[in-house]
Amino acid sequence: TSYGFKSVDEGAKQPLVNEVFHKVAGRYDLMNDLMSGGLHRLWKDAMVAFLNPPKRDGWRVLDVAGGTGDIAFRIVDASHGHARATVLDINGSMLAVGRDRAEKKGYADAVDFVEANAEELPFADETFDAYTIAFGIRNVPRIDVALAEAFRVLKPGGRFLCLEFSEVDMPLLDRAYEAWSFNAIPRIGQVVTGESEPYSYLVESIRKFPNQESFAAMIRQAGFDRVTFRNYTGGIAALHSGWKL
Ligand code: SAM
Repeated sequence: TSYGFKSVDEGAKQPLVNEVFHKVAGRYDLMNDLMSGGLHRLWKDAMVAFLNPPKRDGWRVLDVAGGTGDIAFRIVDASHGHARATVLDINGSMLAVGRDRAEKKGYADAVDFVEANAEELPFADETFDAYTIAFGIRNVPRIDVALAEAFRVLKPGGRFLCLEFSEVDMPLLDRAYEAWSFNAIPRIGQVVTGESEPYSYLVESIRKFPNQESFAAMIRQAGFDRVTFRNYTGGIAALHSGWKL
């Protein structure tokens, strides 16, 4: 298959992103482990530890681009089963894997799944206590629109957290990381899913995503206060935090 990724403009990228995730859904969790060497688990654990969900009933989180449920399940765990999580994703195949996992884990009551677009959230204003998005915002065509939606559905005092690949700020690590992304990741994709091109596209999308400071500015622009970020693994990933005050 030729996806013609290199000529894709922002408006046309959503169908391609959807195709990639439809194809990989069944092997998505395995691919994550292989491609990040298991690091994505540590970054996700760190994100949820930073969120520190309260251990009381009535607290609601919306996990956007939540895919197979990794963040939502961790949040429910961290809240000792009190939090209620909504996993929202544009891709029914990813959600189907998530639903299966939720049933197997016995989380069917704590987590629900909604197929929708991050740019158009099907929720009333001020519905959630927290909004999380991990390795998802990079795939959304209009990031400013997604951020405005995040702000809208949060309650006053609500928390925004975004985990995303970012700009590596360590010499040597940046070179090793480039070599890994441009060579190893498409090859692993080829071996595990039979196709490399979707992975070349994903790597390219990481390069195009704004760096830590620029993304923090976009979050402020959407109305959030006290915007900060912290780097993980030398900036391979970064966690951005903001508050709706
Ligand atoms: N958050 C999960 C994790 O960290 O394992 C999944 C991340 S996965 C790399 C990116 C997800 O973003 C995919 O499940 C994809 O379907 C979803 N996605 C892409 N564009 C989206 C959009 N416009 N709205 C909602 N979800 C979207």
